[in-house]
Amino acid sequence: MKSIRRGLWDGEVGKDTRGRFACRICRESLVVGSEEGDGTERSCPECDRSWKSTAPRWRTTGG
Ligand SMILES: [Zn+2]
Repeated sequence: MKSIRRGLWDGEVGKDTRGRFACRICRESLVVGSEEGDGTERSCPECDRSWKSTAPRWRTTGG
């Protein structure tokens, strides 16, 4: 699965007027799906593309 950052770079994902992630192909706001440990899966209800957004890391691992 592509990361949402990659989707932004590729022009597939954008932000809507409210600052939420949206599919630029369908102009649909992304639906938040399953959470997977370090990130959240967001998908477009129209074309079923999905991107994974990584949560900010508040603390470093290890050490
Ligand atoms: Zn779409």
